[in-house]
Amino acid sequence: MVTQDAKSILAHALDKIVGSENVTTGAAAQSKYASDQWWYAIAAAAAGEAISRPDVAVSPTSPEQVAAVVKLANSLHVPVTPWGGGSGVQGAANADRGGIILDLKKLDKTRAINRKSLTCEVEAGKICKTFEEELNADGLSFTHYPASTEWATIGGSIAARGSGVLSTKYGKIEDHILNLEFVTPTGELVTTPAVPRHAVGPELTQLLIGAEGTLGIITAATVKLHALPKKRVFVVAAFPTLGEGVAAGREIMTSGLKPPVMRLYDADAAAHSLSRAVGAELELTTLVMMFDGEYPELVEHEARIATDICQNHSATILPDSIGAVWWDKRYVFYYPPYAPELPSIWGTVDVVADFEHIEAVYEETTKAIRAACPAEFNLSLNTHFSHWYEWGSMIYARMKVPTGPADLTEAKELHDSIFRAGVEAALKAGAVMNDHHGVGIRLAPFMPAQYGTGMDSLRRIKKALDPNNILCPGKLGLG
Ligand SMILES: Cc1cc2nc3c(=O)[nH]c(=O)nc-3n(C[C@H](O)[C@H](O)[C@H](O)COP(=O)(O)OP(=O)(O)OC[C@H]3O[C@@H](n4cnc5c(N)ncnc54)[C@H](O)[C@@H]3O)c2cc1C
Repeated sequence: MVTQDAKSILAHALDKIVGSENVTTGAAAQSKYASDQWWYAIAAAAAGEAISRPDVAVSPTSPEQVAAVVKLANSLHVPVTPWGGGSGVQGAANADRGGIILDLKKLDKTRAINRKSLTCEVEAGKICKTFEEELNADGLSFTHYPASTEWATIGGSIAARGSGVLSTKYGKIEDHILNLEFVTPTGELVTTPAVPRHAVGPELTQLLIGAEGTLGIITAATVKLHALPKKRVFVVAAFPTLGEGVAAGREIMTSGLKPPVMRLYDADAAAHSLSRAVGAELELTTLVMMFDGEYPELVEHEARIATDICQNHSATILPDSIGAVWWDKRYVFYYPPYAPELPSIWGTVDVVADFEHIEAVYEETTKAIRAACPAEFNLSLNTHFSHWYEWGSMIYARMKVPTGPADLTEAKELHDSIFRAGVEAALKAGAVMNDHHGVGIRLAPFMPAQYGTGMDSLRRIKKALDPNNILCPGKLGLG
């Protein structure tokens, strides 16, 4: 916790660094930054027991101001938690040890676009949707489309190692980044080489990607751009079994086809979630694919080959208009009435595994989640496979308990027991415990099981860079 002495020094010094108009204190700071989008953080804040309790929040307007704030915090041993859009679902952005929230949304400039190299230098606080709209107006695209695009920032996406709807063709966030500008935990401003790869030592850029603010504060990035596609074609296929759907997905990925979108909904998700969103009666495992590109003939040809592959795996091809509706409504799943609200309990177990293990991971994880919830709570579980790779896929198991216990502690115990059962089953069946939502507070207890002796190396890197443990202390299980 922050000492009274440190608090009074902070009050004056922060005003001087960022200007008093960019400083929020006391109850105003605690209410504005009470929770990210993790179910428990939301439920605790609603119950008046917020886990995020910043002493002060600041909104710097330049990287130099970020550096000055961090230097000051380091000298006073005050925790600093960067805050992008607050859309994370693992509790990472909550200031659970008090201290300073560093809201980066005023670092929102697009500094330079290089049309020849198709690269762009953009500041970390830029909202993904705003960035994409600006680029689209110029015929360009960042191609990182998280479902949280309206809230998530570029910096938050990089820090949480995010992945968007188009990732199967265009890559996950780490594939989009050429370099980073960041502030170290001791307050130095660093810029890494601005190329997509090099052989000049280890890749410092990648060390920061997915570090969730524990190793540095990202202030800007140089990212890759693409031309907006001229053509989009949809393929929708229903499979008699999940196994046939997975086998078709594997063949599509290993054949060199590049669908930006490939979502395989299990029968529950197809019947209860996808059907409602696209206005079609779907009862079987359903694959929604989209192909895009510059040349219509090429795009159509890719879609035809993928269609053949699905049919060879006993699929019935459904009208492509379902895919077009899906594309238009792709974000509705994440808002009411599709997205749950209190007093529900909700959350995802989102794991990643290779093709060798993926079906066992699906079976074991979904079985464990269902078994962990007493029948009286009517758990629903909708699962899809998305963000595919040449070697495997991500599984996104979305659970909801419509009405949890009224008591917050009991509700958390129920949430934790379901979640723990899912994660432990997934790890045991050969999965890695998260694909693109990060670790935060929620997955921190599982980090030693995931990393084994590698956890010690991670802790040493953290200690070397952040000797006073001021950046996001406790997150990622780093102490
Ligand atoms: C409805 C919904 C849908 C979602 N869909 C997706 C999806 O499709 N794909 C996906 O990847 N995620 C998704 N998410 C999760 C979330 O949006 C992502 O994790 C996103 O990357 C977080 O960005 P943010 O700017 O909101 O970061 P925050 O939540 O503010 O912060 C996340 C973490 O990064 C740190 N951080 C933030 N900015 C910086 C910075 N500049 N430098 C260093 N550390 C920083 C924070 O301290 C925290 O540890 C979804 C969330 C919701 C609620």
